[in-house]
Amino acid sequence: MGTQEAVQQVRGGFEKLYGTPPEGIWAAPGRVNLIGEYTDFNEGFVMPLALPHTAVAAVSRRDDGVLRLHSADIEGPVVELHVDALAPLTNTSWAAYPAGVVWVLREAGHAVTGADIHLASTVPTGAGLSSSAALEVVTALALNDLYELGLTGPELARVAQRAENDFVGVPCGIMDQTASACCTEGNALHLDCRDLSIRQVPFDLPAQGLQLLVVDSRVKHALGDGAYAERREGCEEGARQLGVPFLRDLAYEDLDAALARLSDERLRRYVRHVVSDDHRVEEVIALLDAGDIRGIGPVLTAGHASLRDDLRISCPELDLAVATANQAGALGARMTGGGFGGSAVVLVEAADADTVTKAVEEAFAAAGYTAPRVFPAVPSEGARRVG
Ligand code: ADP
Ligand code: MG
Repeated sequence: MGTQEAVQQVRGGFEKLYGTPPEGIWAAPGRVNLIGEYTDFNEGFVMPLALPHTAVAAVSRRDDGVLRLHSADIEGPVVELHVDALAPLTNTSWAAYPAGVVWVLREAGHAVTGADIHLASTVPTGAGLSSSAALEVVTALALNDLYELGLTGPELARVAQRAENDFVGVPCGIMDQTASACCTEGNALHLDCRDLSIRQVPFDLPAQGLQLLVVDSRVKHALGDGAYAERREGCEEGARQLGVPFLRDLAYEDLDAALARLSDERLRRYVRHVVSDDHRVEEVIALLDAGDIRGIGPVLTAGHASLRDDLRISCPELDLAVATANQAGALGARMTGGGFGGSAVVLVEAADADTVTKAVEEAFAAAGYTAPRVFPAVPSEGARRVG
């Protein structure tokens, strides 16, 4: 479904639910991370791009403190809350994402006095493509415009991240929300997770006859539940042993010497992954700045090996997707996101996209896995007003 179609749908849905037309309509995309994994909480680099898949929200202000929320994608009635009664970690439904944004804005002193919201999203949920960030950012942008809060894209991203961290209770980094809020068409976004500075890096795939395929493995292994916290703790312990505030502070050139000083093999693997992935982000930026998109293929594949062998957050489905895509002629591929399922990205010549897609689908079928969902990720526009 295109954005215009989604705009018409949420406009109609809003009127039907609430009896009046919305004051406006906003969109915010999901994202996929090109390179730089588990680097964000080490104050390193990431490089996401926005997907064409978006959350679209029709929104009006209210002045009576009432917050009404509805999703076209969820069975059930309108969720009615009161802005004064919002409390962190109390709501476990989807409504916590938009409600959390209202809570964060009010905690920051912004006079958000209520809203009617009806939304719909084309971002697949739970595929590691950040459907949750899309929901938060679209809400934050709509309220920012309607209540004339004057917040910038990066500031809206912080609001959205706080909503997810503090209100929903998910300890995510700043990447997803920044990508959704700040990406631009035809570019990947270089985000420095230390000072939160951003730079648009040219990534015009169509102009060079290329495609970036997203392979949604359709699996999420339970193993991932405690793994994020364990990797994070390991990275912090590694930094402590090496006497640096964050792994970001280790130079790639000094990596081997640093590894020799660590107490055990597990920490060595985690540190090697983080420092080398930060370095891969820099390699990718240099290649893209030079216009050599094809050149990033081997860097992506090296990133996958690091996630599989050093950080150990891949899974058989993602390993199969990456190996099969590369055997079938892809320029490079890696798993992306938190791991243990979710999605992989595959860089291919546009002319080879069908062959590679078919090869991955056949390999999944032969292995008895659920059929993957494969689609091209065109670097798209970030959050914006659309109606
Ligand atoms: P991801 O962000 O990787 O897709 P999360 O578990 O962080 O996965 O977020 C998914 C959750 O976001 C869903 O379980 C639901 O609560 C909420 N969500 C996403 N899209 C929608 C939608 N269209 N309508 C309502 N809730 C949604
Ligand atoms: Mg999420």
